[in-house]
Amino acid sequence: MVTAKEWLDRIHALHLPQKFKIMNVCGGHERSITMAGLRGALPANVEIVPGPGCPVCVCPEEAVYQAIQIARRESVTVVAFGDMLRVPVNVHKGEIRSLEQAKAAGADIRPIASPLEAVRIAHADSQRQVVFFAAGFETTTAPVAGMLAQGVPDNLSVLLAGRLTWPAVATLLESGQPGFDGLIAPGHVSTVMGPEEWAFVPSKHNIPAAISGFTSESLLAGTYSVLRQLIEGRCFLDNCYPELVRPGGNTTARRHLDEVMEVVDATWRGIGVIPASGFALRERYRDHDASKRFPDYSEAQRKRAGQMPPGCDCARVVLGKIYPDQCYLYGRACTPRTPIGPCMVSDEGACRIWWAGGIRTSRTETVN
Ligand code: SF4
Repeated sequence: MVTAKEWLDRIHALHLPQKFKIMNVCGGHERSITMAGLRGALPANVEIVPGPGCPVCVCPEEAVYQAIQIARRESVTVVAFGDMLRVPVNVHKGEIRSLEQAKAAGADIRPIASPLEAVRIAHADSQRQVVFFAAGFETTTAPVAGMLAQGVPDNLSVLLAGRLTWPAVATLLESGQPGFDGLIAPGHVSTVMGPEEWAFVPSKHNIPAAISGFTSESLLAGTYSVLRQLIEGRCFLDNCYPELVRPGGNTTARRHLDEVMEVVDATWRGIGVIPASGFALRERYRDHDASKRFPDYSEAQRKRAGQMPPGCDCARVVLGKIYPDQCYLYGRACTPRTPIGPCMVSDEGACRIWWAGGIRTSRTETVN
């Protein structure tokens, strides 16, 4: 096996005629790159920019608000993956702005680690409604689909905010200003959906791409592949994670997704609607759709409804337009202890990852 050191040697031996920017679109990739210090080990003219890899960061603000209101106003238990609990919504000072605050105020809100826990909680008290607030990309949404396909108790419903990764990349590429020269495609999404999902990047946009796993070796292999393609004027999708990524992906997971959910246009927080980028429950699962089971608590007149908090540059961080420490609030008002935006809340958020990686100050002198 080629070691990380050997991959780095190969990358440094390349003749790089210009600066190249490579985007990753996975919070797990960004965490591995940051924690291993790979940016500092690469040649100065290779940049790795984090892109749309955090589903919690782009979860619609209105959906978080709705989950908070259901938890507060209905006699229900709301369960969600842990990092959703601290995501802030836009409300007036003194009002409850996160699921965590609603929980502190007495609402029954529980963090879970898997859909099986949601089923177990619903079974434990069949008289009580349980709402599973499920935000995530394909890898998280497929197990939710599997849970519903296998049958759940009547008192369990799902408030779904599932998203597909590739449409955000397609939107960037179609904008005419993608801001990157090559792509490291997400290994875990490719494991579920198949590598074919990323073939459009080289075939339609002439951008080199490589699928990587989460080790330094795999990420550097992907980086090397993309750089070589750029230098040699070639363009293809290289599977650098063949041990898990197979043609067609995980057929069971994909079957569950197809059976339970349909693909719809969907809102990404701070970004807007991206065509065919979200999952919605099919009509035959409407009895388990929390958006139909409970009232709609959205308030159109609510100030900044749907937007990022004031001053928060999460949307541009998610789109790879700026690095986390180019947000003026980074390390000033916004830290993991006092997060302003979702990118500082989620374990997959680039701001939080950079903070955990030891980058503690904003490089911005004035408000941008
Ligand atoms: S540092 Fe905080 S305020 Fe700035 S983009 Fe990140 S989460 Fe938003």
